[in-house]
Amino acid sequence: MRVAVIGGGAMGAATSWRLAKRGVDVVCYDRYSPPHAFGSTHGESRIIRTAYFEGPWYVPLVQEAFQLWRELEAETGADLLTMTGALMIGEPDSEAVKGALDSAKAHGLDVELLDGDELRSRYRGHVVPDGQVAVLDKQAGILHPEAAVTAMLSQTPAVVRDRAVGSVAELVDSFDSVVVAAGPWTPELVEWIPLQVERQVHVWFALEGGVDWLTPERFPVFILQSPEFGDVYGIPSLDGASMKVGRHHEGEFTDPHGIRRVVDETDIDPLRRVAAQFLRGLTGRVTRTLTCMYTNTPDRHFVIDFSPDDRRVVVISACSGHGFKFAPVIGDIAADLVCDGVTRRDISRFSAARFATSHVPDDHHDRD
Ligand SMILES: Cc1cc2nc3c(=O)[nH]c(=O)nc-3n(C[C@H](O)[C@H](O)[C@H](O)COP(=O)(O)OP(=O)(O)OC[C@H]3O[C@@H](n4cnc5c(N)ncnc54)[C@H](O)[C@@H]3O)c2cc1C
Repeated sequence: MRVAVIGGGAMGAATSWRLAKRGVDVVCYDRYSPPHAFGSTHGESRIIRTAYFEGPWYVPLVQEAFQLWRELEAETGADLLTMTGALMIGEPDSEAVKGALDSAKAHGLDVELLDGDELRSRYRGHVVPDGQVAVLDKQAGILHPEAAVTAMLSQTPAVVRDRAVGSVAELVDSFDSVVVAAGPWTPELVEWIPLQVERQVHVWFALEGGVDWLTPERFPVFILQSPEFGDVYGIPSLDGASMKVGRHHEGEFTDPHGIRRVVDETDIDPLRRVAAQFLRGLTGRVTRTLTCMYTNTPDRHFVIDFSPDDRRVVVISACSGHGFKFAPVIGDIAADLVCDGVTRRDISRFSAARFATSHVPDDHHDRD
């Protein structure tokens, strides 16, 4: 069996790895040389968490993903996953807190509910207002995206770099199947899913001198839901000198060819204010920034499905900004769909048919 994978980011690399493991003759094409910083899979860290507030149906998938990340580490010797725990912080009735507790209850997960005093005393880096609470998810941590892509592609015998595939039709008759994993370029290849690409920014702030409480051993990854700033997340300091923070969504619509790559004060200012209001130990001095893209569906859940017109074509990379952690399991599901036509995992919520009546605004690439 011969399979083409379009894209060698998180999803395409994972699919290629899982197909190669089954002995499939897989060719992974990428328009650049992954890992690279032009798509959605860069920036040195990604959050993985289990008490998934976006929906309890993600929990079995993330639990399997943990096993597959460890399997990849064992196969390649790469260091990909650092466990830190995760804190979902917000009002008691916020989606992050309620949703995490619901998932924990549904799946018997190891979580703790902390009030503001407990949070502040356990984690010196957090300054939360009274009335806010946090769910501590113990099965959570940091993944390293560039290292992960390198590891997955190292297990893929045929990677064609610097080759932009013009269309699915270009490959479909030369292969038994084509998996589209083109991240924010997906709308150029697949018009039957209503997708919007969203610009995102990461900012690293310098730590104050002498701060030793923001390290992965002492400071879990966190997602904070704030009425003023929306969803904000932070990753503990990986270099002992700076810490990365970002806002989940809140970005402008864009496309990979026209994205505004310069990070300016309008991007930085809200994050600097978040650091000043909610975190202890960060200066406002920026040491590094980057831009990245989300590929959003209207409901912000994934699409993992066959093309409605051609079951030789599978699309997987519409992950709405939270897909990285699932990459190996999504890759394995894609391999199931290609090899067997079905998967034992429940992917009914990721069907493209749920958008069958949706309309993509004509100007969706131009809005900001
Ligand atoms: C700022 C930011 C923070 C995030 N944080 C998290 C997080 O903490 N946890 C989490 O789980 N997820 C997170 N995500 C989401 C996650 O990173 C993405 O879902 C995931 O990396 C998407 O991978 P992808 O392979 O679909 O896309 P990409 O990495 O963009 O890969 C697509 C690839 O396809 C190639 N390509 C495109 N078109 C063509 C073509 N025509 N021919 C050949 N190649 C082509 C591109 O060059 C690219 O390499 C975050 C995303 C961003 C942007």
